[in-house]
Amino acid sequence: MLHLRRAADQPRRLAPPLPRAYIRGMAITLDIDLCEGTGVCEQVCPEDVFEHTDGKTRIVQPSACTDCFICVENCVASALTID
Ligand code: SF4
Repeated sequence: MLHLRRAADQPRRLAPPLPRAYIRGMAITLDIDLCEGTGVCEQVCPEDVFEHTDGKTRIVQPSACTDCFICVENCVASALTID
């Protein structure tokens, strides 16, 4: 007979954690106090998440972000975070 119930003394098996890049639902955040307004994030973002006008950068399409981290890696002021 096949027993599908887990014995109480056996450890529970959990799926291994996914790599960070594959975890959806993370949000891009721009710290305007740190931002130097270079506009690099707008230039490197493949999804048009940013708008850079008059020396100021804004996040205009946060839902378009694919969590690729290109902007984070290119921001000289460390003003961008994804979590
Ligand atoms: S993580 Fe990638 S897609 Fe998201 S805002 Fe930065 S460059 Fe654009």
